[in-house]
Amino acid sequence: MARKRKKRIRRRMLLFCFIILIGLIIYFTFNIINNNEKKLSKLGYSDEEISIIIDNASIGDIRALVDKEYNEYYINIIKDTNYKKGNMGEYVSYYEEYDKALASDIVYLINNDIELPYTETLSDLINNEEFVIGNLDKYINYSKNNKKADAESIILIVNNNIDAPYSSNLVNIIKDKYFIMNNLDRYLSYQKKNPELKANDIVTNVNSNLDYKFYTNVKDADTSKKHLILVNKYFKIDKEYTSDNLVSMDLKYTYNFGELDKDTYEAFKKMADDAAKENLYIKNRSAYRAYNTQSYIYNGYVGNYGYVWAENYSARPGHSEHQTGLALDIGASGSEALGSFESTNEFSWVKDNAHKYGFILRYPKGKEYITGYSYEPWHYRYVGVDTATKIYELDITYEEYYAYFLENK
Ligand SMILES: [Zn+2]
Repeated sequence: MARKRKKRIRRRMLLFCFIILIGLIIYFTFNIINNNEKKLSKLGYSDEEISIIIDNASIGDIRALVDKEYNEYYINIIKDTNYKKGNMGEYVSYYEEYDKALASDIVYLINNDIELPYTETLSDLINNEEFVIGNLDKYINYSKNNKKADAESIILIVNNNIDAPYSSNLVNIIKDKYFIMNNLDRYLSYQKKNPELKANDIVTNVNSNLDYKFYTNVKDADTSKKHLILVNKYFKIDKEYTSDNLVSMDLKYTYNFGELDKDTYEAFKKMADDAAKENLYIKNRSAYRAYNTQSYIYNGYVGNYGYVWAENYSARPGHSEHQTGLALDIGASGSEALGSFESTNEFSWVKDNAHKYGFILRYPKGKEYITGYSYEPWHYRYVGVDTATKIYELDITYEEYYAYFLENK
């Protein structure tokens, strides 16, 4: 019995001490807060400001404030959405060194342990949407070596891991819609040789290989791309290359014997049938050509019209799209000659509708310097509906499309 009572007494004693302790804590805390409120009020903080401080700051933070003179700036710091309890002492000392710094910047710098002198560039950097904190040292380094570079440019260049001195041209090139990282060195050296060109032209031209002369730096065409293969003055196909999918065309769709890749032929038939529903009649004039045929044609042109004409209108053997079976020259009923196709209603219709069947006008007007061929309103190339539609909407050549969307992916 006695032991039980002892136990009960001890438990009561413990509880009593605990209550006393809590009471003391409450009393002192209240006293400190009360004291701090008085001190802040004495310094000139308004009641509203004091309640902002009491509600958000730690006791240590308040101690940092009561040691200083009144400054509305400290209230701005506390009001900042990223304000961190316990950091006030550091915020205040950073501010004392750089009193031009924005409150939000100070909060950011201290919260992230960034110990750098405050500059306008630093502020622009940390406030940029693309700012990556892990790249900060690189930004600062780049900025030191390229005094004229603004924060946005520094971030763009560093984030892309580009090791080139700053220039506004460099920035415009990187920002270009069709910028390809692998081509950077070529853009820069092409730009040096053509300082009058705009960034957009530099990107377009280099992507289309125009920094090399036609028929130089020639590579093998990537046959694994199938109907998306690029064959031009920089990409060649073997003498032996033939599509394994060639079919003969019905005379309903061609003026004379012709062969096409099967998918290309099916697409062309659909297009010709739909055109016929609108009383427009199109047929193939020239479709698949073997290497030797192309050789014969090209040499014939050189003999009859001269080298320059032949180069503008005809491909050297191995460089003709006609050898892929994916391209054809279209004529219209009553104006079978290539040259007169452009003036027909059939042409107007084909120009606006070919992409719906997967064809692109391969050598458009105004893009001769890119494609390497004179404008050919009759020559269409099958690439499939999705790609043809995209090219039609973007209004770019296949050279540009291939470089940006296919070759570098
Ligand atoms: Zn052609």
